[in-house]
Amino acid sequence: MSRVRVGVNGYGTIGKRVAWAVMKQPDMELVGVVKTKPSWEALSAIARGIRLYVPEGKEELFESTGIKIAGTLQDLIQSVDVIVDATPAGIGAMYAGRYKEVGVKAVFQGGEKESVADVSFNALYTYETALGKASVRVVSCNTTGMLRVLYAFRKAGDIRSVRVTIVRRGADLKEVKKGPIEGLLLKPAKPPSHHADDVRSVAGHDLDIITYSIVAPTTLAHMHVMFVRFNGSVNREDVIRALEETPRVTLLRASLAYSTAEVRELARDFGRCGDIYEVVVWPESLWVRGDEAGIAYMVHQEAIVVPENIDAIRAVTGVVEDGTLSIRLTDESLGIGRWLP
Ligand code: NAD
Repeated sequence: MSRVRVGVNGYGTIGKRVAWAVMKQPDMELVGVVKTKPSWEALSAIARGIRLYVPEGKEELFESTGIKIAGTLQDLIQSVDVIVDATPAGIGAMYAGRYKEVGVKAVFQGGEKESVADVSFNALYTYETALGKASVRVVSCNTTGMLRVLYAFRKAGDIRSVRVTIVRRGADLKEVKKGPIEGLLLKPAKPPSHHADDVRSVAGHDLDIITYSIVAPTTLAHMHVMFVRFNGSVNREDVIRALEETPRVTLLRASLAYSTAEVRELARDFGRCGDIYEVVVWPESLWVRGDEAGIAYMVHQEAIVVPENIDAIRAVTGVVEDGTLSIRLTDESLGIGRWLP
């Protein structure tokens, strides 16, 4: 069978990682990526042998700096089966009509509104719903983290309500103009933060979930503390087993590493460019009493949605109909689940 031809519009934090992951899939071919400026990120693509496409009217700008381009955005979307839109939040919606016009399948990111796509996507929940759809939206990094942990909690018992405090990284490493560089920022001041609705867009609109969001001066990762109330008692062993059995959830003993700094460094030492595709859960943080449970975990914002994008590509094209199989293929190709003993 021929490989799925993929293009990536927006080669930034998420787009470049998705492009690199596509290059590792035996059933996919990366046709090229779109860059708007001849920046260091363009050099990063060239260094990896990735073809560069540019929005119409930008050809001269690239060529004048000596950067060779393969064509325009229109050329790219007309020559692929799927376009992964990883442009900044809100820009994807501007391109949505254009993708539709050409008839190319589109995978949007979590910065877009739910209405941008046919389905809000997480491979554990909505793979089958997304099969063959024209477009999906891979929900944001925090939402993806919460969804995976909730998936495990749902295996352990019938959930009545969910409360989460999200400590969000202030910026990604490269984002020199973002902050805060000091202080903790309660944003928004009035709960719930948008993350609650985002979780519901995948897990079901009847889920009782409230989220608080605090922005912190760090670039390394987010950390969440989640409390769940069940309809009936749960036991610790069942929750731990459910977490162990959930794909893309890694349990790491806090006695080995309990800070986002140590865990990111550990991922670097494991040869992953510091990228962590899994939610990292500290089992010691699991607190269970009767019908209540609480847990703390970390989410590497730059990497966690990458495997979800790969599964989303398979779902919209229908090349793999079984979500469990797609998750396995993606995880094998990216070494997910193999980095911790
Ligand atoms: P980014 O700013 O790092 O990358 C965006 C890229 O798009 C840049 O290379 C930029 O040059 C390019 N771009 C800008 N305008 C464009 C246009 N008009 N046409 C084509 N390309 C354009 O952004 P990001 O952090 O990768 O975020 C992309 C999406 O992923 C957003 O929806 C965001 O909410 C979501 N997301 C981000 C993170 C994260 O932590 N960074 C995590 C999960 C989801």
